[in-house]
Amino acid sequence: MERFDLNTCTKVKEWLRKDVKRTVIIPHVNPDGDAIGSTLGLNDVLNNAGFESHVIVPNDFPVYLNWLSCEGSPLIYEQNIERCQKLIDQADALFFLDFNDAKRLGKLEEYLRTNAKKVVLIDHHPDPQIKADFMFSDTNVSSTAELVYDFVDAIGMLDHLGVTGANALLTGIIADTGSFSHNASRSPMYGIVGELIKRGADKEKINESLYNNFSEKRMRLLGYCLSEKMEIFPQYRTALIWLSAEELKRFDFHPGDTEGFVNYPLSVKGVVFSAFFMEKHDQVKISFRSKGSFATNDFSGAHFSGGGHRNASGGETKLPMAEALALFRELLPQYSGKLDKEC
Ligand code: 5GP
Ligand code: MN
Repeated sequence: MERFDLNTCTKVKEWLRKDVKRTVIIPHVNPDGDAIGSTLGLNDVLNNAGFESHVIVPNDFPVYLNWLSCEGSPLIYEQNIERCQKLIDQADALFFLDFNDAKRLGKLEEYLRTNAKKVVLIDHHPDPQIKADFMFSDTNVSSTAELVYDFVDAIGMLDHLGVTGANALLTGIIADTGSFSHNASRSPMYGIVGELIKRGADKEKINESLYNNFSEKRMRLLGYCLSEKMEIFPQYRTALIWLSAEELKRFDFHPGDTEGFVNYPLSVKGVVFSAFFMEKHDQVKISFRSKGSFATNDFSGAHFSGGGHRNASGGETKLPMAEALALFRELLPQYSGKLDKEC
């Protein structure tokens, strides 16, 4: 509760009570467990509190998060452009969750460029670059879902958090901490987890849906990546995996299938930096992960138009795969000092 400025909370509370009836909640493009969980959690609270609220995601999300969907949310912008634009036009308030830069809105960015509605930002990424009327940003928390819980508490709406919302928020926390294995050392988060479980969140079901719910093809694709495609650079404590569009097609790729692949090489003793490159439409999408102090978000921002957190970030490039990989390999010697410092 004391995480936020009391004055801002009072203002938001009053504004919601007096001027807001319809709300639209939007997370980042390629939404993951926290993006879907945090938005659907807030959506549950707002709907239960009597608002007319919808979640609009910029593009498709992994099927294993489908069970959290309810009453037409989330809507996928790329697949329902007219309806989504109408909902946005009718909204009195927009909530932006789990991103710090308008570029992360995907195709929605253009539509929202001229937006004149009030925006509430709730996010845990560093250096928010978004114009927001109310900003609830904290990089110390595990996830945006954790922050949403505190936000809802701070504006006095916790009583409206139902089982649907509790499951969604716990999904966000579990997804962003890899089941409490990273970013999970602060005790207040466990207080929130306890409260969510008290409200009916089902930890086992969430773990099953996130981690034991894959297609056979996806498991084989993971095996293929680890046995055939993982390249280790021992001198730079770095690992690289890449997949072409042809390989993805061969393994019947669906959104979310490669989620988490980038983490595996960090289990190799000595590896502190891992990169995963994959061909997506007309670009190469990249995920970076590290252990310790190596700032993958700086690396990604400097060379691959990206960002994120220190230990988990992403980026993209229009270079063809071969050139993108060559660039990555060429960059490593430049970072050898920083990669060498790791334990
Ligand atoms: P992932 O590798 O799981 O897609 O993303 C890891 C983290 O990096 C997330 O916090 C995500 O929001 C951020 N991220 C992923 N891709 C991009 C990108 O292209 N640009 C920026 N700024 N952040 C990204
Ligand atoms: Mn997040």
